[in-house]
Amino acid sequence: MDKFSDLPVFPIRISTPFAVGDVFSYLIIDEKIVLVDTGHYSDEAYETVKQHLRDHDLQVKDLDEIWLTHGHPDHYGQAVKLADRSGATVMGHPKDRTNFAANDNSELFEAFFDRHNIPETLTQQMLEQLEWLQQYQQPLEPQWISDGDHLSSGSIGAEVCLTPGHAPGHLSFVTDQGIIFSGDLLLGHISTNALINFDADTGQRNKSLLQYRESLQWIRKQEGVVMPGHGEQIDNITEVADHHLAEHKKRYQKIQQLLEQQSMSLIKLSQRMFPDAIKSGAIFLVLSEVLGYLDWGIKEGTIGLDEQKMEYERI
Ligand SMILES: [Zn+2]
Ligand SMILES: [Zn+2]
Repeated sequence: MDKFSDLPVFPIRISTPFAVGDVFSYLIIDEKIVLVDTGHYSDEAYETVKQHLRDHDLQVKDLDEIWLTHGHPDHYGQAVKLADRSGATVMGHPKDRTNFAANDNSELFEAFFDRHNIPETLTQQMLEQLEWLQQYQQPLEPQWISDGDHLSSGSIGAEVCLTPGHAPGHLSFVTDQGIIFSGDLLLGHISTNALINFDADTGQRNKSLLQYRESLQWIRKQEGVVMPGHGEQIDNITEVADHHLAEHKKRYQKIQQLLEQQSMSLIKLSQRMFPDAIKSGAIFLVLSEVLGYLDWGIKEGTIGLDEQKMEYERI
Protein backbone atom coordinates (compact mmCIF):
# COMPACT_ATOMS: atom_id res chain seq x y z
CA MET A 1 0.00 0.00 0.00
CA ASP A 2 1.37 3.40 -0.83
CA LYS A 3 0.45 6.67 0.79
CA PHE A 4 -1.70 7.61 -2.18
CA SER A 5 -4.11 4.75 -1.70
CA ASP A 6 -5.64 6.59 1.28
CA LEU A 7 -6.71 9.49 -0.90
CA PRO A 8 -10.25 9.57 -2.26
CA VAL A 9 -9.08 9.28 -5.88
CA PHE A 10 -10.46 6.49 -8.02
CA PRO A 11 -9.38 5.60 -11.55
CA ILE A 12 -12.13 4.90 -14.06
CA ARG A 13 -10.97 2.75 -16.93
CA ILE A 14 -12.94 3.43 -20.10
CA SER A 15 -12.52 1.32 -23.21
CA THR A 16 -12.27 3.28 -26.45
CA PRO A 17 -12.39 2.61 -30.19
CA PHE A 18 -9.01 4.35 -30.56
CA ALA A 19 -5.62 2.77 -31.27
CA VAL A 20 -4.31 3.99 -27.91
CA GLY A 21 -6.66 1.61 -26.06
CA ASP A 22 -8.36 2.34 -22.75
CA VAL A 23 -8.41 5.85 -21.33
CA PHE A 24 -8.41 6.70 -17.63
CA SER A 25 -10.58 9.30 -15.98
CA TYR A 26 -10.15 9.95 -12.28
CA LEU A 27 -12.94 10.44 -9.81
CA ILE A 28 -12.22 12.53 -6.71
CA ILE A 29 -14.77 12.07 -3.96
CA ASP A 30 -14.23 14.92 -1.57
CA GLU A 31 -16.23 17.97 -0.44
CA LYS A 32 -16.74 18.35 -4.16
CA ILE A 33 -17.17 15.48 -6.59
CA VAL A 34 -14.62 16.05 -9.32
CA LEU A 35 -13.90 14.16 -12.50
CA VAL A 36 -10.49 14.58 -14.15
CA ASP A 37 -11.13 13.92 -17.87
CA THR A 38 -14.27 12.23 -19.03
CA GLY A 39 -13.76 9.63 -21.73
CA HIS A 40 -15.14 9.97 -25.25
CA TYR A 41 -18.72 10.61 -26.27
CA SER A 42 -20.47 7.24 -26.52
CA ASP A 43 -23.19 5.33 -24.67
CA GLU A 44 -20.65 2.81 -23.39
CA ALA A 45 -18.30 5.45 -21.98
CA TYR A 46 -21.24 7.17 -20.30
CA GLU A 47 -22.40 3.89 -18.74
CA THR A 48 -18.88 3.23 -17.45
CA VAL A 49 -18.71 6.57 -15.65
CA LYS A 50 -22.25 6.15 -14.34
CA GLN A 51 -21.46 2.69 -13.01
CA HIS A 52 -18.34 3.89 -11.19
CA LEU A 53 -20.29 6.71 -9.60
CA ARG A 54 -22.97 4.24 -8.56
CA ASP A 55 -20.31 2.03 -6.93
CA HIS A 56 -19.69 5.00 -4.61
CA ASP A 57 -23.39 5.72 -4.11
CA LEU A 58 -23.20 8.69 -6.43
CA GLN A 59 -25.00 9.73 -9.57
CA VAL A 60 -23.99 11.79 -12.57
CA LYS A 61 -26.00 14.70 -11.20
CA ASP A 62 -23.66 14.80 -8.17
CA LEU A 63 -20.66 15.89 -10.23
CA ASP A 64 -19.49 19.39 -9.25
CA GLU A 65 -16.45 19.96 -11.43
CA ILE A 66 -14.76 18.44 -14.46
CA TRP A 67 -11.08 19.22 -14.93
CA LEU A 68 -9.88 18.58 -18.47
CA THR A 69 -6.24 17.89 -19.31
CA HIS A 70 -6.78 18.51 -23.03
CA GLY A 71 -9.26 18.58 -25.87
CA HIS A 72 -8.84 15.18 -27.49
CA PRO A 73 -12.04 13.13 -27.79
CA ASP A 74 -10.91 10.35 -25.42
CA HIS A 75 -10.30 12.94 -22.69
CA TYR A 76 -13.12 15.47 -23.07
CA GLY A 77 -15.61 13.96 -25.56
CA GLN A 78 -18.47 13.40 -23.13
CA ALA A 79 -17.89 16.45 -20.92
CA VAL A 80 -20.95 18.24 -22.34
CA LYS A 81 -23.21 15.27 -21.70
CA LEU A 82 -21.99 14.93 -18.11
CA ALA A 83 -22.17 18.68 -17.48
CA ASP A 84 -25.68 18.95 -18.94
CA ARG A 85 -26.94 16.32 -16.52
CA SER A 86 -25.08 17.60 -13.46
CA GLY A 87 -24.52 21.33 -13.90
CA ALA A 88 -20.83 20.61 -13.26
CA THR A 89 -18.34 23.36 -14.11
CA VAL A 90 -16.00 22.21 -16.85
CA MET A 91 -12.48 23.63 -16.88
CA GLY A 92 -9.78 23.64 -19.52
CA HIS A 93 -7.05 25.77 -21.05
CA PRO A 94 -7.84 28.30 -23.79
CA LYS A 95 -4.91 27.18 -25.97
CA ASP A 96 -6.94 24.00 -26.56
CA ARG A 97 -9.97 26.04 -27.56
CA THR A 98 -9.95 24.73 -31.14
CA ASN A 99 -9.92 21.14 -29.93
CA PHE A 100 -12.69 21.78 -27.41
CA ALA A 101 -14.74 23.37 -30.16
CA ALA A 102 -14.37 20.10 -32.13
CA ASN A 103 -12.90 22.22 -34.91
CA ASP A 104 -10.46 19.90 -36.61
CA ASN A 105 -8.56 22.71 -38.35
CA SER A 106 -8.93 20.79 -41.60
CA GLU A 107 -8.18 23.88 -43.72
CA LEU A 108 -4.91 24.58 -41.93
CA PHE A 109 -3.97 20.92 -42.21
CA GLU A 110 -4.81 20.77 -45.90
CA ALA A 111 -2.71 23.85 -46.58
CA PHE A 112 0.15 22.35 -44.61
CA PHE A 113 0.01 18.97 -46.40
CA ASP A 114 -0.25 20.75 -49.70
CA ARG A 115 2.80 22.90 -49.03
CA HIS A 116 4.77 19.76 -48.18
CA ASN A 117 3.57 17.92 -51.30
CA ILE A 118 2.02 15.08 -49.32
CA PRO A 119 0.40 12.67 -51.81
CA GLU A 120 -3.33 13.21 -52.21
CA THR A 121 -4.25 9.70 -51.05
CA LEU A 122 -2.42 10.19 -47.76
CA THR A 123 -3.92 13.65 -47.26
CA GLN A 124 -7.40 12.21 -47.81
CA GLN A 125 -6.66 9.41 -45.38
CA MET A 126 -5.69 11.92 -42.68
CA LEU A 127 -8.69 14.16 -43.30
CA GLU A 128 -10.98 11.13 -43.09
CA GLN A 129 -9.39 10.13 -39.79
CA LEU A 130 -10.06 13.62 -38.42
CA GLU A 131 -13.65 13.43 -39.65
CA TRP A 132 -14.15 9.99 -38.08
CA LEU A 133 -13.16 11.37 -34.66
CA GLN A 134 -16.03 13.86 -34.72
CA GLN A 135 -18.61 11.27 -33.62
CA TYR A 136 -16.74 10.83 -30.32
CA GLN A 137 -16.88 14.40 -29.08
CA GLN A 138 -19.38 17.13 -28.38
CA PRO A 139 -18.03 20.67 -28.68
CA LEU A 140 -17.90 22.87 -25.62
CA GLU A 141 -16.40 26.03 -24.25
CA PRO A 142 -15.00 25.26 -20.82
CA GLN A 143 -14.43 27.81 -18.11
CA TRP A 144 -10.89 28.86 -18.93
CA ILE A 145 -8.11 28.24 -16.43
CA SER A 146 -4.47 29.31 -16.64
CA ASP A 147 -1.03 28.12 -15.68
CA GLY A 148 -0.57 28.74 -11.95
CA ASP A 149 -4.27 28.68 -11.05
CA HIS A 150 -5.34 26.65 -8.06
CA LEU A 151 -8.23 24.22 -8.05
CA SER A 152 -9.59 22.36 -5.08
CA SER A 153 -11.94 19.49 -4.38
CA GLY A 154 -11.93 20.38 -0.66
CA SER A 155 -9.12 18.49 1.01
CA ILE A 156 -7.17 18.08 -2.25
CA GLY A 157 -5.68 21.21 -3.77
CA ALA A 158 -4.24 21.18 -7.28
CA GLU A 159 -2.03 23.57 -9.17
CA VAL A 160 -2.81 24.01 -12.84
CA CYS A 161 0.36 23.61 -14.93
CA LEU A 162 0.47 24.27 -18.66
CA THR A 163 2.38 21.37 -20.24
CA PRO A 164 1.99 21.78 -24.02
CA GLY A 165 3.33 19.58 -26.79
CA HIS A 166 0.91 16.69 -27.19
CA ALA A 167 -1.81 19.33 -27.43
CA PRO A 168 -1.28 23.11 -27.39
CA GLY A 169 -3.29 23.69 -24.21
CA HIS A 170 -2.41 20.47 -22.44
CA LEU A 171 -2.63 20.78 -18.65
CA SER A 172 -1.28 18.78 -15.75
CA PHE A 173 -2.91 19.05 -12.32
CA VAL A 174 -0.36 18.78 -9.54
CA THR A 175 -2.00 18.05 -6.22
CA ASP A 176 -0.63 19.06 -2.82
CA GLN A 177 -0.59 15.37 -1.93
CA GLY A 178 1.82 14.45 -4.73
CA ILE A 179 -0.59 12.99 -7.27
CA ILE A 180 -0.09 14.45 -10.73
CA PHE A 181 -2.93 14.07 -13.20
CA SER A 182 -0.98 14.46 -16.38
CA GLY A 183 -3.28 13.37 -19.22
CA ASP A 184 -1.15 12.32 -22.17
CA LEU A 185 2.05 14.08 -21.11
CA LEU A 186 3.71 11.04 -19.59
CA LEU A 187 2.66 7.49 -20.39
CA GLY A 188 4.59 4.54 -19.09
CA HIS A 189 3.95 1.98 -21.79
CA ILE A 190 4.08 4.10 -24.94
CA SER A 191 5.59 7.41 -25.88
CA THR A 192 2.96 9.98 -26.73
CA ASN A 193 3.13 11.99 -29.88
CA ALA A 194 3.72 15.68 -30.10
CA LEU A 195 1.04 16.05 -32.75
CA ILE A 196 1.09 18.64 -35.50
CA ASN A 197 -1.14 21.42 -34.19
CA PHE A 198 -1.75 25.10 -34.63
CA ASP A 199 -1.87 27.98 -32.19
CA ALA A 200 -5.51 28.83 -31.48
CA ASP A 201 -4.81 32.58 -31.57
CA THR A 202 -2.45 32.95 -34.52
CA GLY A 203 -3.08 29.84 -36.63
CA GLN A 204 0.70 29.34 -36.73
CA ARG A 205 1.96 25.78 -36.47
CA ASN A 206 3.37 25.09 -33.01
CA LYS A 207 6.80 23.53 -32.67
CA SER A 208 5.07 20.79 -30.76
CA LEU A 209 7.98 18.39 -30.17
CA LEU A 210 10.08 21.21 -28.74
CA GLN A 211 7.20 22.20 -26.47
CA TYR A 212 6.69 18.57 -25.54
CA ARG A 213 10.35 18.08 -24.61
CA GLU A 214 10.21 21.14 -22.36
CA SER A 215 7.14 19.68 -20.70
CA LEU A 216 8.97 16.36 -20.20
CA GLN A 217 11.90 18.29 -18.69
CA TRP A 218 9.42 19.86 -16.30
CA ILE A 219 7.70 16.64 -15.25
CA ARG A 220 10.98 14.75 -14.76
CA LYS A 221 11.66 17.07 -11.80
CA GLN A 222 8.27 16.52 -10.16
CA GLU A 223 7.97 14.35 -7.10
CA GLY A 224 5.09 12.02 -6.43
CA VAL A 225 3.13 9.74 -8.73
CA VAL A 226 1.65 10.31 -12.13
CA MET A 227 -1.89 9.18 -12.78
CA PRO A 228 -1.81 9.11 -16.57
CA GLY A 229 -4.52 9.20 -19.20
CA HIS A 230 -3.50 5.75 -20.46
CA GLY A 231 -1.81 2.89 -18.63
CA GLU A 232 -0.94 2.31 -15.02
CA GLN A 233 0.17 4.75 -12.33
CA ILE A 234 3.80 5.87 -12.76
CA ASP A 235 5.98 5.96 -9.62
CA ASN A 236 9.36 6.47 -11.32
CA ILE A 237 8.57 9.74 -13.07
CA THR A 238 12.15 10.84 -13.75
CA GLU A 239 13.16 7.49 -15.19
CA VAL A 240 10.17 7.31 -17.56
CA ALA A 241 10.60 10.93 -18.70
CA ASP A 242 14.33 10.39 -19.28
CA HIS A 243 13.59 7.27 -21.29
CA HIS A 244 11.32 9.23 -23.64
CA LEU A 245 13.80 12.11 -23.89
CA ALA A 246 16.58 9.66 -24.79
CA GLU A 247 14.41 7.92 -27.42
CA HIS A 248 13.78 11.31 -29.04
CA LYS A 249 17.48 11.98 -29.14
CA LYS A 250 18.21 8.67 -30.88
CA ARG A 251 15.65 9.32 -33.58
CA TYR A 252 16.81 12.89 -33.99
CA GLN A 253 20.34 11.62 -34.60
CA LYS A 254 19.08 9.05 -37.10
CA ILE A 255 17.31 11.79 -39.06
CA GLN A 256 20.46 13.87 -39.09
CA GLN A 257 22.38 10.90 -40.47
CA LEU A 258 19.82 10.27 -43.22
CA LEU A 259 19.96 13.91 -44.24
CA GLU A 260 23.74 13.76 -44.38
CA GLN A 261 23.39 11.30 -47.24
CA GLN A 262 20.87 13.37 -49.19
CA SER A 263 18.34 16.16 -48.78
CA MET A 264 14.76 14.94 -48.47
CA SER A 265 11.21 16.16 -48.32
CA LEU A 266 9.11 15.59 -45.19
CA ILE A 267 7.25 12.69 -46.79
CA LYS A 268 10.33 11.01 -48.18
CA LEU A 269 12.07 11.20 -44.83
CA SER A 270 8.94 9.86 -43.12
CA GLN A 271 8.85 6.91 -45.51
CA ARG A 272 12.52 6.18 -44.82
CA MET A 273 12.04 6.37 -41.04
CA PHE A 274 8.70 4.64 -40.49
CA PRO A 275 7.53 2.72 -43.59
CA ASP A 276 5.54 0.10 -41.64
CA ALA A 277 3.69 2.65 -39.53
CA ILE A 278 2.66 4.50 -42.69
CA LYS A 279 1.39 1.27 -44.25
CA SER A 280 -0.66 0.59 -41.12
CA GLY A 281 -2.43 3.95 -41.44
CA ALA A 282 -0.49 5.98 -38.88
CA ILE A 283 0.65 8.58 -41.39
CA PHE A 284 -0.41 11.54 -39.23
CA LEU A 285 1.57 10.28 -36.24
CA VAL A 286 4.59 9.68 -38.45
CA LEU A 287 4.52 13.12 -40.05
CA SER A 288 4.10 14.70 -36.60
CA GLU A 289 7.05 12.80 -35.24
CA VAL A 290 9.41 13.47 -38.15
CA LEU A 291 8.45 17.13 -38.38
CA GLY A 292 9.26 17.47 -34.69
CA TYR A 293 12.85 16.37 -35.26
CA LEU A 294 13.15 18.70 -38.24
CA ASP A 295 11.95 21.62 -36.11
CA TRP A 296 14.55 20.61 -33.56
CA GLY A 297 17.33 20.56 -36.14
CA ILE A 298 16.29 23.93 -37.52
CA LYS A 299 16.32 25.38 -34.02
CA GLU A 300 19.78 23.95 -33.37
CA GLY A 301 21.05 25.09 -36.76
CA THR A 302 21.93 21.57 -37.95
CA ILE A 303 19.06 21.23 -40.44
CA GLY A 304 17.83 23.70 -43.04
CA LEU A 305 14.77 23.84 -45.28
CA ASP A 306 15.07 24.62 -48.98
CA GLU A 307 11.74 26.42 -49.39
CA GLN A 308 11.79 26.11 -53.18
CA LYS A 309 12.06 22.33 -53.26
CA MET A 310 10.55 21.87 -49.79
CA GLU A 311 13.46 19.62 -48.94
CA TYR A 312 15.32 19.42 -45.66
CA GLU A 313 19.08 19.41 -45.72
CA ARG A 314 21.91 18.87 -43.26
CA ILE A 315 23.91 22.03 -42.66
ZN1 LIG B 1 -4.42 13.20 -26.35
ZN1 LIG C 1 -5.20 10.21 -24.79
